[in-house]
Amino acid sequence: MLFEELNLIEPILKALQTEGYTQPTPIQEQSIPSILQGKDLLGCAQTGTGKTAAFAIPMLQLLSKPHTNTKIHKAIKALVLTPTRELAIQIEESFKAYGKNLPIKHLVIFGGVGQKAQTDALHRGVDILVATPGRLLDLMNQGFISLKDIELFVLDEADRMLDMGFIHDVKKVIAKLPTVRQTLFFSATMPKEIQILADTILRNPVKVEV
Ligand code: AMP
Repeated sequence: MLFEELNLIEPILKALQTEGYTQPTPIQEQSIPSILQGKDLLGCAQTGTGKTAAFAIPMLQLLSKPHTNTKIHKAIKALVLTPTRELAIQIEESFKAYGKNLPIKHLVIFGGVGQKAQTDALHRGVDILVATPGRLLDLMNQGFISLKDIELFVLDEADRMLDMGFIHDVKKVIAKLPTVRQTLFFSATMPKEIQILADTILRNPVKVEV
């Protein structure tokens, strides 16, 4: 199967060509059509399978549709939560690469660095926010971030969130999301607590395992 067969828009296909990608990986082939249809997704996949592009590509396509509510053009429309700064940076780089021909603004935020550059960028407007849980909550509590217009939420590496002791923070973030939204949930393993969380936040998800 080729990327051309996945009904992707031209600006994304061009960007994939630039990256030198011609064929989707199994998780991309299985996830992209369902995500484009607006479905929730439960993906069991490790890093290295191409899971970042599996969510980043269809998210960019969904968000490139013209928005009817012009009042919220500055609102954050998609949130990707990931456990580490390294993963956050990689994910933002994926949005940058696959979204290079699209007018979609993305930003990565994480702790351990000053917040000024991050809050300045937030003021300029962000469509897709990639964040680690601690810094996100911090900026939410200070009033720099509102999640009320989020349409798409991705929880990346859910099992690692649990291992690293972030699951309580993750649940606090989820509590602030609109209930009507599309949710994509990725985890390499499915311990009980993660299964329960997935059952709680997903609606009739398509299940993809690679
Ligand atoms: P990930 O599992 O998202 O961390 O991706 C693993 C690596 O595979 C990354 O370096 C990507 O740039 C690369 N990659 C993702 N999708 C494809 C694809 N369809 N073809 C070739 N390389 C890819």
